[in-house]
Amino acid sequence: MFVAKFGGSSLADAEGFLNVRDIILADEQRTCVVVSAPGKRNDHDLKITDALLDCHHKAQMNQAFDQEFSVVMRRFQQIAKGIGHPGCLDEELLSVKQAIGNGATRDYIVSRGEYFSAVLMAKLLGFNFVDAREVISFTKSGKLNLDLTLQLTRAALLASSPAVLPGFYGADEEGEIHTFTRGGSDVSGALAAAALDADLYENWTDVNGFRSADPRIIPDASYIASLTYRELRELSYMGASVMHEEAVFPVRNAGIPTSIRNTTNPQHPGTLIVHTPRQIGRLPAVTGIAGKRGFSTIILEKNRMNDEIGFGRKVLSVLERHHLNFEHLPTGIDALCVMVNTQHLSKVRPVVLEEIEEAVNPDTIQVQDGIALLACVGAGLFKLHGTIARLFTAVSEQGIPVRTMFQAPSELSIIIGVNESDLETAIKAIYDAFIRE
Ligand code: ASP
Repeated sequence: MFVAKFGGSSLADAEGFLNVRDIILADEQRTCVVVSAPGKRNDHDLKITDALLDCHHKAQMNQAFDQEFSVVMRRFQQIAKGIGHPGCLDEELLSVKQAIGNGATRDYIVSRGEYFSAVLMAKLLGFNFVDAREVISFTKSGKLNLDLTLQLTRAALLASSPAVLPGFYGADEEGEIHTFTRGGSDVSGALAAAALDADLYENWTDVNGFRSADPRIIPDASYIASLTYRELRELSYMGASVMHEEAVFPVRNAGIPTSIRNTTNPQHPGTLIVHTPRQIGRLPAVTGIAGKRGFSTIILEKNRMNDEIGFGRKVLSVLERHHLNFEHLPTGIDALCVMVNTQHLSKVRPVVLEEIEEAVNPDTIQVQDGIALLACVGAGLFKLHGTIARLFTAVSEQGIPVRTMFQAPSELSIIIGVNESDLETAIKAIYDAFIRE
């Protein structure tokens, strides 16, 4: 069986709901459906979740929120009417309005978008409605209780199959609603797939899949037909995304493939995310390229550094004290480079440099700013002959100086540091050398 999750852009109006119904009913394996709240119908529109947040802000300041709530009310009424169930939510919508006026919590208020969306979808499909409040379990402090969630979700969904589950929220043992971070319906879908040990987790959205490069740089960047979870992790870390980051772990751990599909183009095969390159059946040299600006390198040199036990620990302890994350740590025999986010460093720069001096007494310490990192990710990078040579040839033919480079220990990616102003040209060059057909 499949768990199919539909994002808000696919459910923005009645037409979207009807389209999603057709997709679900086209394959009888789609017996568990997870939905987001209705998203924007156009660029000037509001997502229902944002309209609910507006209600919360107003109510919190003891101001009238009728106008804000009427946005929510009208949208759900229009959808209900358009799918043949006019007025079916009116009573409940009014009681939510009352609850907001009576001081309902932020998480309760924003969760209502997914709640009403799922109630409507269940009616439209003739499926059972399973409330996430009963199955997605949080601690009182708002952390997901994974084991209990998997257990409760499995029992409820098996007993009520076929079913629709609202995404984005759950509740603690006292029934208090908690939400995931924005975009969290992806996580709910992944949890449902893991709980049911689904054959496939389908994440339906408004794009044809995961692209091999940022379309703002390569407008015609191809869609990746399939990639592994590890490749996805490397690309997402560098900023490429179509799915909530937290959604990857439940399905990856449960060995379930994920398929990214487009509701407005359901014929497109989308992107399939699998466990091993073997499941892909080919070994691409470069699956995707992602880049990020805004890195600084702290370069420390000290004669005989390699003999000094604890050198690295002392340097990293300084960063830890100042809550500064290190992104990469390339080393030489007598040199250590710590790559950090420039913006994060800027808040504590003088004190961090002073404390590093004190801690390890380096011969020199300098900071280089303006570095962009570019990750070339591919399960075949180190397995196919000549790939690395081709990669650096492509960059050097553009006259781009490489400021740093290192391979991830996973042997899945090579990271190249270039000047920020060279990032786009470098990505284009590598794309042309490996991916463009
Ligand atoms: N509706 C929520 C949001 O807009 C959650 C989701 O769509 O996944 O972030």
